[in-house]
Amino acid sequence: MKRPLNEYSVQYVKGIGPQRAKVLARLGIRTVQDALFYLPYRYEDRRLQKSISQLRYDEFQSVYGRVVSAELVNTPRGKMKIFELVVSDGTGVITAKWFNQPYMKKVFKKGDMVYLSGIVKRNRYWGVGFEIHNPEYEIITEEDEAEQSIHTNRIVPVYRCTARLTTRNLRRMMFNIIQFALPHIEDYLPEEIIKRYKLPSLRDALLNVHFPSEDVSVDELNQLRSIYHKRLSFDELFLLQAGLAIVKRGMARQRGISFVCEGRLWERVLKSLPFELTDAQKRVIQEIYNDMQSPHPMNRLIQGDVGSGKTIVALAAMLRAVECGYQAALMAPTEILAEQHYQNIKKLLKDTDLRVELLTGSKRERRISEIASGEIEIVIGTHALIQESVEFGRLGLVVIDEQHRFGVMQRAVLRQKGLNPDVLVMTATPIPRTLSLTLYGDLDYSVIDELPPNRRPVITKVFQHNQRPLLVKFLKGELKKGRQVYVVYPLIEESEKLQLKDAVTGKEELEAMLPECRVGLVHGRMKPQEKDEVMAEFKSGKIDVLVSTTVIEVGVDVPNATVMVIFHAERFGLSQLHQLRGRVGRGAHQSYCLLFAHGRLTEEARRRLYCMEKYSDGFRIAEEDFKLRGPGELFGTRQSGMPDLRVADLIRDGRILAYARKEAFNLIEKDPELEGYPVLKSKLQGFWKDKMEIFKTG
Ligand code: ADP
Ligand code: MG
Repeated sequence: MKRPLNEYSVQYVKGIGPQRAKVLARLGIRTVQDALFYLPYRYEDRRLQKSISQLRYDEFQSVYGRVVSAELVNTPRGKMKIFELVVSDGTGVITAKWFNQPYMKKVFKKGDMVYLSGIVKRNRYWGVGFEIHNPEYEIITEEDEAEQSIHTNRIVPVYRCTARLTTRNLRRMMFNIIQFALPHIEDYLPEEIIKRYKLPSLRDALLNVHFPSEDVSVDELNQLRSIYHKRLSFDELFLLQAGLAIVKRGMARQRGISFVCEGRLWERVLKSLPFELTDAQKRVIQEIYNDMQSPHPMNRLIQGDVGSGKTIVALAAMLRAVECGYQAALMAPTEILAEQHYQNIKKLLKDTDLRVELLTGSKRERRISEIASGEIEIVIGTHALIQESVEFGRLGLVVIDEQHRFGVMQRAVLRQKGLNPDVLVMTATPIPRTLSLTLYGDLDYSVIDELPPNRRPVITKVFQHNQRPLLVKFLKGELKKGRQVYVVYPLIEESEKLQLKDAVTGKEELEAMLPECRVGLVHGRMKPQEKDEVMAEFKSGKIDVLVSTTVIEVGVDVPNATVMVIFHAERFGLSQLHQLRGRVGRGAHQSYCLLFAHGRLTEEARRRLYCMEKYSDGFRIAEEDFKLRGPGELFGTRQSGMPDLRVADLIRDGRILAYARKEAFNLIEKDPELEGYPVLKSKLQGFWKDKMEIFKTG
């Protein structure tokens, strides 16, 4: 096996040395391996350079020419200094401008040959003539011209730079690093996989994503969709999935509890329900029961849209554990949600003599001894429940109701505490399949793909803030019919006071506009007890309109409420809006979600609100959200303990993911210890390096 490239510091590559290595470190490049995966963010085809006379306005383009003048000029009122660079290529001229960066004058001199890239604009004053503002630039020396293989007459890579490093210098260093690395690159993917998908070799892939050969399309390169990019994405996703396959296999082989019982407890609760389970709920409960009966621990993800009835499914699982003589714990991401579950479950269990306890940060010590002794059968709380020092007498099942915060790593920690309970993870709102295969790729998967009957889609509409008068009229109509209304103000993180003020004035305004109604208010600063009281009044119909900050996101279930009004809707994320909307449409009446937007919207906010109008299916909304915001930001893959993806993109590479997963799982099935694949094995260990504990769980 060759020495891995992450053991070579870039410092020793020709033309780099300690000084430059320090600069590279600022880009996160320390080893040759780091450099190989520091990919260009775009490519420029410098084989057929467009002449200046051919430029078009308002498009991103590159030009190449000679500097004919480089001058600092003052704006008319002398407020700002502009550095103006005039470049000519014989067919025309273009003026580049840098604002308030007088030092730029030192960079260029008359006669330099330069590349400029940016959006070409029309000179505002004259109405004609090309301008380009704060362009990316490169000065080409005569030496460079001689070295055509790097900077000119080819498709050149453009890397993100920092201060003290020019594009051209970085490109040269990268060129040297690649030359250095090539003989050391070893392909670790199994031959048959490379053949099956006709993948280029790893060496070709790395060479071509940095310094593409003649026959690669620049468009494909720029979309990061060349076969070479695909090969690198495949590798990353393959390594990721192989790790998950190892974890999953390890768990499946562990000894767990075999929950075998008649199911009388659940039967009793089921009979007391005022509704029939949906077929989807029945199917998922059966899937869970099959897992629970097996002698290996259950690890299952339940996905379901808001209102699909996940709580009752979780309860079915918990009751089986309890009937078999074990304790069950339910973990929620927030105290409010924990409290909510606690209330619901206590109500569902009112005819049993089971002991249910709430354990949150604020209510800790009370019951710890009874949890340790096993007297309390069902414990509901926040993550603190597992992460801190709570001892369980005989924990059999953990249900995690969460919003993408409890990743592979945390689940592994749970097991390392010596506990080996069955684990059921429920998502609060749906997440796209590609993402669940990654974040929850070590789990089995069930989906509740059906809503309870008689649920009509909520009619959703976006309004501008100044259309509020329409709202009053509409609300009066609904209230006259006896319906109830939620009004939500956003949580403004910087200022809890301001948030409160918004909601308080909102309440007063509504009271003035709807004199015959009773308006209540809940907000994050109220004591839990006060909050409960208001919620209870709303639930019993004593209050008609409930004004609140986002605390009702996970709030009560009031089927008679038919209107959800959200102010400053543009400040909410898509899945949050979808959660809020899920508070209405729970009864037989037609429900409405009215989104009020304030001020000028960003393009993204506009699209979010549009999605809400257009789609009611949570899975669809999750896909859109994913596309809008990207996986990292949205779902915090970082915190989840996953290795970072440097090339692959879960949105773009959904299909590659599917293949990579299939191949990785097959391989681990066939050769669990990767005995026949030593290079792959060491690569895999490197990929998951700080996360290695997870391999020990197996
Ligand atoms: P979520 O999946 O969003 O957590 P919940 O478990 O809170 O949904 O259920 C939403 C509401 O639907 C609750 O009031 C619950 O009692 C009710 N519910 C659950 N299952 C059914 C069903 N099969 N038929 C009718 N109502 C149901
Ligand atoms: Mg729920």
